[in-house]
Amino acid sequence: MSGDSDPYESFRSQVETAAEHLDVSDGELERLSRPERRLETNLTVELDDGSLETVSAFRCQFDGSRGPYKGGLRYHPAVNRAEVTALAGWMSIKTAVVDIPLGGGKGGIAIDPADYSEDELERLTRAFATELRPMVGPDRDVPAPDVNTGQREMNWIKDTYETLERTTAPGVVTGKSLASGGSLGRVEATGRSVLITARELLAREGRSLEDATVAVQGYGNAGWIGARLLDEAGATIVGVSDSSGAAIAEDGLDPVAVKEHKSETGSVVGAAGTTEGTNEDVLTMDVDVLVPAALGNAVDADLAADLEADAIIEAANGPLTPDADDVLADRDVEVVPDVLANAGGVVVSYFEWVQNRTRNPWSEQRVNEELDDVIVAAYDDICETRERIGADRNRTAAYVVALERLRTAADQAGQFA
Ligand code: GLU
Repeated sequence: MSGDSDPYESFRSQVETAAEHLDVSDGELERLSRPERRLETNLTVELDDGSLETVSAFRCQFDGSRGPYKGGLRYHPAVNRAEVTALAGWMSIKTAVVDIPLGGGKGGIAIDPADYSEDELERLTRAFATELRPMVGPDRDVPAPDVNTGQREMNWIKDTYETLERTTAPGVVTGKSLASGGSLGRVEATGRSVLITARELLAREGRSLEDATVAVQGYGNAGWIGARLLDEAGATIVGVSDSSGAAIAEDGLDPVAVKEHKSETGSVVGAAGTTEGTNEDVLTMDVDVLVPAALGNAVDADLAADLEADAIIEAANGPLTPDADDVLADRDVEVVPDVLANAGGVVVSYFEWVQNRTRNPWSEQRVNEELDDVIVAAYDDICETRERIGADRNRTAAYVVALERLRTAADQAGQFA
């Protein structure tokens, strides 16, 4: 994550804010705020030139009271203990908000995958899978893709696990390719929940996507597919960005053409029919909907004061610092929090896991329709709760919904010892 905000402190403060609306004891609050356990390990990999390199890797299992731990593995230089812990906490909130029977976890390796060959990445991923083996499993902890990981890495992890366990267990990871047991609709799922939440947000104001302008910061899986689906649904995408800069077109751009340009040149900058800009230009555009879809802490309090968007859909995890969140709440800018807006990924991961367990694949139509139902139901729960508790923002209401479910599960389980 960029910025200087400690993500785990952000998570704790979000939980504390929500807990003010719940009758929880100090002991319960502490249990809800701390992870159950964390693996911190070093992976040594042989590079293609024969030399050895050792890198840090993590897996945090935050809350398992509602089901197996669930959450992605990211490969990024900023991966560290605090970030993985916060992201695992957010996964516990996310799976509870959308009410799927899974807990929360997260992991990663502190590397920039661009520095490694495909063979080196395969060796690193298999080393990581070997370290993870005692703690993962279809009924224990189910990793998935996250920043800079995808089907390829999940297929390697599944293969490593199945080989070592001498079994077939496709449900040990989700986000696999179709031929390795993946689900139709999984790649699009995060972008699809961005689309669904944008549609619902506008509908609550009596508006529709057809007359909405949208800016998207970040053009990875969530950002680019979100942009494509929003464009297909009639919205006008007026600016997109990636780590190299921005492509802006006030009259609207074609997300697919911009993606093709990025695949050819490595960046969205310079796509035909667009003018060049910075990431900040995109974040501060005067649009109906801004979609931050890159890394955490993209918007701090100063930038939040300059934003001109009417609403924000958090496709990334943790894109607003807590101070930025306060500024936006004071300014009455509607924010659909990450734990709902990008939950499509984990919801379709859940569908993939169900398909793996039952050995019965679903049609893409079924996946998309059931995803829509789950996200709309969660959005309704959040709005009703916000009304009931008088919260000034959706995030607090979402946390209240989730913490109530987590606390109930833990209470009913009781204390083992
Ligand atoms: N990495 C995604 C997230 O942050 C997906 C996690 C999953 O599918 O388990 O929600």
